[in-house]
Amino acid sequence: MKTIQKIIIVGGGTGGWIAAAMLANEFKHARIHIELIESNEIGTIGVGESTIPPFLELIKTLDIDEIDFIQKTQASFKLGIQFTDWRVKGEGYFHPFGTMTAGMNHFRFYNLWLKSTMNGEKFGLQDFSPCNIMAEHRRFMLPRLAEKTPLADASYALHLDAKLVTSYLRNYAEALGVIRTEGKITQVVKKTDDFIDKVYLQSGKEIEGDFFIDCSGFHALIIEKTLGVSYCDWSNYLPCDRAVAVQTENKGETLPFTRATARDHGWSWRIPLQHRTGNGYVYASKFCSDDEALNTLLNVVDGELLTEPRVIPFKTGVRDEIWKGNCLALGLASGFIEPLESTAIHLVVRGMVHFLRRYPDAECDKSLQKEYNRRMKMDYEEIRDFIVLHYCLTEREDTPFWRWCKNMELPIALQETIDLFKVQGGLPEQIDPLFAPESWRSVAEGMGLRPKKYATLVDDFDFPEALNHFRTFVEATNKFVQQLPSHDQFIAQNCPAPLWKKS
Ligand SMILES: Cc1cc2nc3c(=O)[nH]c(=O)nc-3n(C[C@H](O)[C@H](O)[C@H](O)COP(=O)(O)OP(=O)(O)OC[C@H]3O[C@@H](n4cnc5c(N)ncnc54)[C@H](O)[C@@H]3O)c2cc1C
Repeated sequence: MKTIQKIIIVGGGTGGWIAAAMLANEFKHARIHIELIESNEIGTIGVGESTIPPFLELIKTLDIDEIDFIQKTQASFKLGIQFTDWRVKGEGYFHPFGTMTAGMNHFRFYNLWLKSTMNGEKFGLQDFSPCNIMAEHRRFMLPRLAEKTPLADASYALHLDAKLVTSYLRNYAEALGVIRTEGKITQVVKKTDDFIDKVYLQSGKEIEGDFFIDCSGFHALIIEKTLGVSYCDWSNYLPCDRAVAVQTENKGETLPFTRATARDHGWSWRIPLQHRTGNGYVYASKFCSDDEALNTLLNVVDGELLTEPRVIPFKTGVRDEIWKGNCLALGLASGFIEPLESTAIHLVVRGMVHFLRRYPDAECDKSLQKEYNRRMKMDYEEIRDFIVLHYCLTEREDTPFWRWCKNMELPIALQETIDLFKVQGGLPEQIDPLFAPESWRSVAEGMGLRPKKYATLVDDFDFPEALNHFRTFVEATNKFVQQLPSHDQFIAQNCPAPLWKKS
């Protein structure tokens, strides 16, 4: 049995440096050579600035000090996503992180809440989300600093500067012995049909490896261009295929959430960091030209432009095999689903977690590859279906794009989920899903989909007492949140990045 001695990571974007950091941490006591090759000439994609809570688990696993990370990546806090104009123009909803259960079991809470709405009570679902309440009041507190309060079960993620994240992780990985080689790979040499032997750089340098991680972004240098793995195209479900992105100066307070506003042919994002704001418009080229998209974006951004707007084409889908032979694809090389729920960086981390659970010897047994590919596809499909949910429930018919979304054919699993949910709010049980029932319920409710009945099991529960509990919970949470620092104050007091000027 030959163990893997030399791992070559191709690409130094967020994907490559996350892989390097995770491997360096995993093998800090083993003698494994880990080398990352990146090309300054090609550069990185440089977007990808909104994350979800599991990202903080990565920081913790790597033993990185969270405050230091926040300061060095100009990060701000994220409590969820504010969606505007998705169901109909002029309306919006919030998809919060964390629980939404008023301290109960989530099934019982949701069904008691459904029963309350059917009895004419006016509680909104989001009234029970501590993250939503903090976002509404533009306030912030780390849940771990608020134990035994209504915020104890809140959660959060970060908005961060993509370039600063890669340099942070690079420093981390290099300190643990990862070798960085700058240069453009011009040739990849195979050993057999499925196995890579070595790569050649433009300089003529030759680099051999036992295992290769393809983090070359949309170039997909090894997984596609060398191993010929095909791409499963999901644009029949998610037709957006381009984005235009621009950075602007900060204006006004730093909001503790990402904004996703529906536009005529897609949606625009706004991601506030400590030192600037990231903006973009994700659109479908079959309905909208680049010029129209650019004009739309420039009309809606606040603050002076800090960069030239940049158009980024992409194709929604996933590789048919993410791991093949001695090559694992990670990040954009493995697939991409539009960034509506900020899931791409998460998929990088998941890709590594699943890989480390099935870490092979140098033979890379096909059964390991098969199981890995099955598992990753499940993650991709779960995210795809959740994103489609945001579009397919629209009632908008004001543009061809929204008419298309309203009438689209759904993935079978999503159609079944919606059918099940409509009955009494049930959801299919999944193993280790990314999106909790609270997430599905938030988006469904925000898009106007509410179950016809509640589960009568909760009729055993004292209903007046439940309503009292609801009232007390909502009042106590609002009262507690109102005396918290604003998001800006919290940053200024706890984790201001260099040049933070707000008071
Ligand atoms: C419009 C848009 C918005 C996004 N928003 C979010 C978001 O909000 N949240 C989120 O989680 N994710 C988001 N993402 C995804 C996120 O940006 C990526 O998942 C993440 O940055 C990983 O990218 P990567 O490392 O795979 O690729 P890249 O950043 O493109 O890096 C590729 C690397 O490969 C190197 N390379 C390529 N070819 C060669 C070669 N021949 N020789 C040597 N080196 C080579 C390049 O130099 C570079 O270092 C977004 C993506 C897009 C397109």
